[in-house]
Amino acid sequence: MKIAVLPGDGIGTEIVAEAVKVLNVLGLPLKMETALVGGAAYEAHGHPLPESTLKLAKESDAVLFGAVGDWKYDKLDRPLRPEQAILGLRKNLGLFANFRPAICYEQLVGASSLKPELISGLDILIIRELTGDIYFGQPRGRRIATDGHFPGAEEAFDTMRYSKPEIERIAHVAFQAARKRSKRVTSVDKANVLETFQFWKDVVTEVGQQYPDVELDHMYVDNAAMQLVKAPKRFDVVVTGNMFGDILSDEASMLTGSIGMLPSASLNASNQGLYEPSHGSAPDIAGKGIANPLATILSAAMMLRFSLNQEAAAQQIEAAVQQVLAQGLRTADIFSEGTTRVSTREMGDAVVKAM
Ligand code: NAD
Repeated sequence: MKIAVLPGDGIGTEIVAEAVKVLNVLGLPLKMETALVGGAAYEAHGHPLPESTLKLAKESDAVLFGAVGDWKYDKLDRPLRPEQAILGLRKNLGLFANFRPAICYEQLVGASSLKPELISGLDILIIRELTGDIYFGQPRGRRIATDGHFPGAEEAFDTMRYSKPEIERIAHVAFQAARKRSKRVTSVDKANVLETFQFWKDVVTEVGQQYPDVELDHMYVDNAAMQLVKAPKRFDVVVTGNMFGDILSDEASMLTGSIGMLPSASLNASNQGLYEPSHGSAPDIAGKGIANPLATILSAAMMLRFSLNQEAAAQQIEAAVQQVLAQGLRTADIFSEGTTRVSTREMGDAVVKAM
């Protein structure tokens, strides 16, 4: 089982090191190869996604990714910015389905800004379409500057579009995921205003007829944003487009208290996947040894489950994470009175020990 390890920038290197440590104690035949990506790759090779890194990712069964980006690259021409590496990997590997679970660990109920009774026991799965929508439609801004801005321009616009096969395949992913959970799918759209999302709604409804055992409902995105903070437990699987999914998955991630706890998976049609924490490179805390590595460690568990077919190993990691939380160990982002503050490395060591 070959894994491309791409730590990236900022806290990326610190948190990925802990996940690698955890993977190494499983005793599985994992071949891990590390490469540069993002700002680190730009510094060394002049491009955020060098050919050699892309080749390694394509040849691997899965990619374990840290995070990319730093404010110092904001002035670069857009194709050279670190974040382009993720878009390039998604596009080249055909990663169209993004899984973002939002699970509230019982020990962290107090870390949420919502009332405990609203989030205790929360377990929702947001499935975001990742390779279509307005992020990949034709940009129509008049590009006259190389730094990504348009001095003197009077307007700029982007195009929202989805094809039927693109909607069908993500709908199938959602219904199949729901079958393994509580058999409910909420499709989020903006059909009242956008033609693209009336089409989305129609196609999802059509696909839903093939899954009579799964209950499907539809919700406008503004209402979904509201319901997520009002009654998040009403959701099970949420499926939506690229832009709405981007926003709603970040909102959902904060329900549980810390973005440092939330893993994600992006899969293609053959279950090859990219696994990364939901957060970014956190330049504000990089190099301080205080970042929470659990989102990345839990992403490694998702990798074992979805791409490497190692369910038992995935569960072993997840159980170890539960155990260290039960022991009261906390990185700074989830620390509260009465718990023990630990560093990034100490948290990784504790997970290894629990395993
Ligand atoms: P961020 O997620 O990096 O940080 C937001 C806040 O959360 C910060 O205060 C940070 O300290 C904290 N945080 C994030 N991860 C944490 C962790 N594991 N433990 C403890 N605290 C954590 O978002 P941002 O500050 O908006 O963006 C920083 C950079 O990351 C930007 O360059 C952005 O483009 C990039 N980014 C990259 C990705 C990615 O690589 N997939 C995703 C989002 C943002």
